[in-house]
Amino acid sequence: MSYSKDVIDRVIEENDIVDVVSNYVSLKKSGKDFKGLCPFHHEKTPSFNVSQEKQLYHCFGCQASGNVITFVMNIENVGFKEAVEFLADRAGIEIEEENLSGLEYQKKKLKDEIYEVNRLAALFYHKYLYSKFGQAVLKYLYDRGIDDITIKRFGLGFSPANGLELFNYLKRRNYSTEILLKAGLISKSNSGSYYDRFKNRVMFPIIDEKNNVIGFGGRVIDDAKPKYLNTPETVVFKKGKTLYGINYAKKSKEDMFIIVEGYMDAIALYQSGLDNVVASLGTALTIEQGRLIKKYKNTVVISYDADEAGIEATMRGLNLLDELDLNVNILTVPNGKDPDEFVRKEGFDAFKKLLQKTDTLIEYKIKKYKEDLDLEKPADRIKYIKKVCKDLATLKDEVKRDVYISIVSKDAEIPENTIRAEIDQFVKGFLQNNKKN
Ligand SMILES: [Zn+2]
Repeated sequence: MSYSKDVIDRVIEENDIVDVVSNYVSLKKSGKDFKGLCPFHHEKTPSFNVSQEKQLYHCFGCQASGNVITFVMNIENVGFKEAVEFLADRAGIEIEEENLSGLEYQKKKLKDEIYEVNRLAALFYHKYLYSKFGQAVLKYLYDRGIDDITIKRFGLGFSPANGLELFNYLKRRNYSTEILLKAGLISKSNSGSYYDRFKNRVMFPIIDEKNNVIGFGGRVIDDAKPKYLNTPETVVFKKGKTLYGINYAKKSKEDMFIIVEGYMDAIALYQSGLDNVVASLGTALTIEQGRLIKKYKNTVVISYDADEAGIEATMRGLNLLDELDLNVNILTVPNGKDPDEFVRKEGFDAFKKLLQKTDTLIEYKIKKYKEDLDLEKPADRIKYIKKVCKDLATLKDEVKRDVYISIVSKDAEIPENTIRAEIDQFVKGFLQNNKKN
């Protein structure tokens, strides 16, 4: 399948090459062009040239050259079609249906139908929240400091307790049982009857970057289990591939996303005045979420609840973001509070102050090592040095590396040169591993 020339031209037109390249390469203005370190070959002085006027790039070192599409193909390691789709997504261009093959058309049609019933379900839940049946839930939201504007903005709702009303409502509108099942809105009981998947829950519609309702999260208001229930995997909803709130956050002028864990954290921070908050809906960030972030922003601030169980998973996710060349910062909310709780009690300005005191990934790791180890003990001190050196070996910026070397040298009472030598060993190890692969 190929896209028409019109589509391709639009994709090129609406994705400025300097913007796109800037997500991967730090560019500096040089004459009327931009210059940076080539991402396609290893170099120390910039020979990678980007012309905004011509919308082309060229490397004088390795001769790599092309337009915004070839750039995405090479840097993301994808084919032409995926690159066009990636850029169309990025610019919010709907790729026309006539460009789709039969099978792809069927798939798109199914997706569109699911978006449609999901949207109707979201409206149904929202209306139900404001009906006489929703009063207790509405009070629950007000008590948590959420106002009507925010409820409307995020389309919050309430699912009826009897487990039949949505099903009946959508059946009356002639939607097939099949599509409701495929959307994950209903389930089939052992006796073969159908019922609403979400019952008696506060409903959070999950909306993607193109404003489609792809699924729901439902939170109980009593002690029922599970506390949170999500839409199951569907054609349009894949856990770990989306970020809650991306539809608003992507429009923020800040070149940064604040990543929180849950719906309520995202909503509370948004209401308090931050327009660049997303929720990962799980502690372990995935590579797909990383790429989604990278599509829009270069910096992330992670603000998770600080329970021990989550930290390991969080770390893996953070390393992954780091490998995507995102600037990763960690914001620790004091006294183990979650961001939602903190903003409600301490206010927005207090949170803003925390935002100015984030740790970089490496600082955060050093802090954690020090918490876990007793530097008075020689064995722990050795562990500490080895761990930090391994992390520092991955740091590309030499100035930053030097700063941390001097900190570690003081902490562990070891000469800087010894630390430097240890880092070199790790660097050699990495290089050898790379050769093997
Ligand atoms: Zn090059």
